[in-house]
Amino acid sequence: MRDTRATDRQQGLEVLDMKNLIAGNWKMNGTMGEAIKLANSIVDAIQSDAQLLEKNDFLVCPPFHHIVPVEAELTMAVNIGGQDCSPFDAGAYTGDISATMLKDVNCSYVILGHSERRSYYSESNMLIKQKAQMANEQGLTAIICVGETETEREAGQEQDVVATQMLESLPEGATADNTVIAYEPVWAIGTGKVATIEDITAMHDFIRAKLAEKLEGADKVRILYGGSVKPANAEEIFAVANVNGALIGGASLKAEDFVGIAKAS
Ligand code: PEP
Repeated sequence: MRDTRATDRQQGLEVLDMKNLIAGNWKMNGTMGEAIKLANSIVDAIQSDAQLLEKNDFLVCPPFHHIVPVEAELTMAVNIGGQDCSPFDAGAYTGDISATMLKDVNCSYVILGHSERRSYYSESNMLIKQKAQMANEQGLTAIICVGETETEREAGQEQDVVATQMLESLPEGATADNTVIAYEPVWAIGTGKVATIEDITAMHDFIRAKLAEKLEGADKVRILYGGSVKPANAEEIFAVANVNGALIGGASLKAEDFVGIAKAS
């Protein structure tokens, strides 16, 4: 296994050992019964594995109406979160779910600015920032997703795109406790294509440096990688120094794969 943490230690660079966050984005999939079964299978697979729990924090983000029944099946070891929240707190916003409502049903995280929401619903950085603000005010940790398209990468614009998305989406008062960044190259989501380890390393180092210009305690902000993460490629990805977990789509719908990814950390 390539262990860049070990290399950094040898070079005298500070390396913070934070737990990896293994986050599953279930998107718009499954029946209630399937969601409950998946939750049970995940709990069964991790609860007796002390080493796994020592190294990882777990999070599942089901569709909104599955949150309550799924949460009832989870143990303390698995957090629950939403896949989005409203920029408003309450009132006449048909179809919206507020951060307050997520908090009320024991969510501790919310995914914001996923590329599917940025592209299908034209979500802007400003809107994502407003949502993140609401999430933080309610005590939720915002997982802010950023990532370039294939065309942007081919044009050499990936760092500019990611920096702009991240810095414009971060709310006032963002800290390592209330913010997680998920770097998800759009072309790697659900496609089976994974960024190279060199590209992941370069982008995660870049994100860490950009965060340091903006936040105190930036070294403690978790930066997740997302994009076709599977048990077979997870070990190499988790060995990158500034990768602090994964945001997982397709593979989070199978308990064996989701937990298999965690076992690679
Ligand atoms: C995602 O949707 O955030 C994602 C990373 O999906 P997948 O793992 O299927 O590529």
